[in-house]
Amino acid sequence: MRFLPTIFCMQPMKSKRCVLAVVLSALFLNAVYAEEISPDSLAFDLFSASDTTDFRTELEMEENQFWCGIHPADSIYFGCWDTEWVNPYKIKIDSLPDSVRFLCKNYVHPIASTRITSHFGLRRYRFHYGIDIGLTVGDTVRSVFDGQVRIIDYERRGYGHYVVVRHPNGFETVYAHLSRVLVHKNDTLKAGQPIALGGNTGRSTGPHLHFEVRFLGNAINPTKLIDFEGQQVLQEDFLMVKKDAYDHKKILDELAKAQYCTVRSGDTLSGLARRYGTTVSKLCKLNKISASSIIRIGQRLRYR
Ligand SMILES: [Zn+2]
Repeated sequence: MRFLPTIFCMQPMKSKRCVLAVVLSALFLNAVYAEEISPDSLAFDLFSASDTTDFRTELEMEENQFWCGIHPADSIYFGCWDTEWVNPYKIKIDSLPDSVRFLCKNYVHPIASTRITSHFGLRRYRFHYGIDIGLTVGDTVRSVFDGQVRIIDYERRGYGHYVVVRHPNGFETVYAHLSRVLVHKNDTLKAGQPIALGGNTGRSTGPHLHFEVRFLGNAINPTKLIDFEGQQVLQEDFLMVKKDAYDHKKILDELAKAQYCTVRSGDTLSGLARRYGTTVSKLCKLNKISASSIIRIGQRLRYR
């Protein structure tokens, strides 16, 4: 079963091919993942029991030799190395394996501060895919594991200055709202290596580090992996069970269905309810307002 990843590892891919390859691979993985998982294996669970030992050896080799091949975790990401998009893989949560084991040795916390200012989860209209840690502008931000810099970019209305790192264990991490980036695209990193200085750039209302942990493009709650007070991983041999790690999927599905309107002159809640085939009480519930709330022109209201 090792042949497919090897084939896909040969060349870095352009974006469309990359998505196609990863989608095909995900379908393949999904079929393989359905097999029984050896409970005491250290390996990535996409392989059948007979392949597990070999893969564990390979993973340990990657740990020791940094990584084999062109980019870290190439065999998991099928050679896809996109330097523009945080999630070029477009793999649905449903298509992820039911469980995956990650080797999380040599973890280094990304920042000295332990002051969490915002958690992972739903914000008013949007989903917050990371955790925010308060800092002083200029504080050092470090790579949490060995890795390679996949993206360095700037988003004025979003991440600000940000860095995405791929790690040999299969995770990718995002560090955002930085004031200054200290590394370059494709640089190889050791765990704990300074990659940037913390800041307040992009869509940010105060100096903080926005930190994300992703697997095949899909963010998990970082607190499922990391103890932010103790500044260490919860388990060095981390078993990620999809059902628990992605227990926010229901909220994401709801958000994907959500529809919004903008309040215009003369609009009332009852008028909007009629226009969009709903009721005032449903509008109130969706927007956390009361029937007597004053709505303003230009206000965005969710109606579904
Ligand atoms: Zn954030």
